[in-house]
Amino acid sequence: MLNNQGRPTNVDNVNSNVGTSTGAALLPSEPLLFEVGDKNKSGVDLPQTDTDFSSRLGGFARQTPINLPGLTEPQSMRHYVRMSRLNYSIDAGFYPLGSCTMKHNPRLNEKMARLPGIADIHPLQPQSTVQGAIELMEELGRWLMELTGTGAVSMTPKAGAHGEMCGMMAIKAAHEAKGQSHRKIVLVPESAHGTNPATAAFLGYKVKPIPAREDGTVDVQAVKDALDENVAGIMLTNPNTCGLFEPDVIEIADAVHEAGAYFYCDGANFNAIMGVVRPGDLGIDAMHINLHKTFSTPHGGGGPGAGPVVLSDALAPYAPLPYVKRVGDAVALIENPKEGEEHLGRLSAFHGQMGMYVRALTFKLSHGADGIEQAARDAVLNANYLKAKLSDVYNVPYDGQPCMHEVLFDDKSLKGTGVSTLDLAKAMIDEGYHPMTMYFPLVVHGAMLIEPTESESLHTLDQFIGTMRELMADAKAGNIDRFVNAPMKAPMRRLDETAAARSPHLRWDEPEDDAATEAAE
Ligand SMILES: *Cc1c(COP(=O)(O)O)cnc(C)c1O
Repeated sequence: MLNNQGRPTNVDNVNSNVGTSTGAALLPSEPLLFEVGDKNKSGVDLPQTDTDFSSRLGGFARQTPINLPGLTEPQSMRHYVRMSRLNYSIDAGFYPLGSCTMKHNPRLNEKMARLPGIADIHPLQPQSTVQGAIELMEELGRWLMELTGTGAVSMTPKAGAHGEMCGMMAIKAAHEAKGQSHRKIVLVPESAHGTNPATAAFLGYKVKPIPAREDGTVDVQAVKDALDENVAGIMLTNPNTCGLFEPDVIEIADAVHEAGAYFYCDGANFNAIMGVVRPGDLGIDAMHINLHKTFSTPHGGGGPGAGPVVLSDALAPYAPLPYVKRVGDAVALIENPKEGEEHLGRLSAFHGQMGMYVRALTFKLSHGADGIEQAARDAVLNANYLKAKLSDVYNVPYDGQPCMHEVLFDDKSLKGTGVSTLDLAKAMIDEGYHPMTMYFPLVVHGAMLIEPTESESLHTLDQFIGTMRELMADAKAGNIDRFVNAPMKAPMRRLDETAAARSPHLRWDEPEDDAATEAAE
């Protein structure tokens, strides 16, 4: 039997017409567990018992089969191991996804997060029994305030976007407390991450886009012109999503404050400036920190995020519950506010992503203050190295200043080749690389945003540069098959990603003849 890749299928999978090839380095397709399994198989042997359990279920005993696949232990084991081999990950290779900061997750972090005293505690334990865990949250929070130059932090948000919501809710609450709830506009630069306008809109704000200047930075005059008594705040990313430090950020902060509005800073790009610049000194009022980007905790398929938010003194009273407070020798999670205290209530059940706190604090303690700064400087150096070695063949749209931790190219150099940014990205997969971030930010055509992070070696960068130069040369030479048909070596060929995202098929439907046989039995 041949599968859709023209490879022989594995005869082991007798129940399926899709199979796993053997003897090939790549595994073209892995059937579903339902297709591998057989209802009459089981991975466990339970001893026969005389007890009639069904009698205890009263009328609630199941009348129809449960329809779970029956699998032996090796079958299920192999299924998951094969699936894991279809994944590309930061542990498998270079992952230059801009804005997402896919840096190495040090194994020390994992080891610490798995210590039984941390891994085995429960969020409902009495606080007196988890003083160490609360203290760890407090210490991480102190680091975040120190690094950002702010005086308050909310640890609970569970991702960057959740942190944005937390910060913007604090801004909204602060305006309401001042009788300023008519402020209904939030300014968002055109280069912003989609979560920024989404957050503002979600909280009922009207989003007003601010154009970028020729050099890719925010137009300070446009900000000033847009500010009036109806503006609640600005959401600005710094370094911005073009990989550039906003040179007028202090002037922008001053203008925003003068207009009675607040400055929300998207801190997802903190990796470039941690230990070097304190955003609090630039005048920000709220900023989320993606622990999963900046401080190396796994993300994407690797684990949940965590998006603590630091707050200025003006917004600190509006932090959500719970918050950590030192009380004498002890630490406490304050879950109920004092009489008359302003607060947002809770943003999530429990207290936040404990496992990510442990990993982020481990990263900080193992680097130290000097190491954190070095990591930021190395991230910037690596991105500028890629820029220097690729900018003669890939067009840099904004070349006025060195880039920060990521370098932005556009598709100008591909013009006339018949190869698009998407085709190039797919060809990178065949070369063993995860593609860079594509078509974001939206302000440049066919964007390619490349973030090497500090954890890549010169050797890896040179290899990548070689591949990228070779791909561009091949595109220019007219060898477009390699691009438009890519990926050719990946487990799956080119997919309809829009359809996959918009109408995913998430349920397994039993093939009709099986269902019919069963009904007849
Ligand atoms: C990743 C990112 C976010 C959102 O963070 P999540 O943790 O994915 O919700 C927001 N803004 C920027 C610039 C980002 O890169």
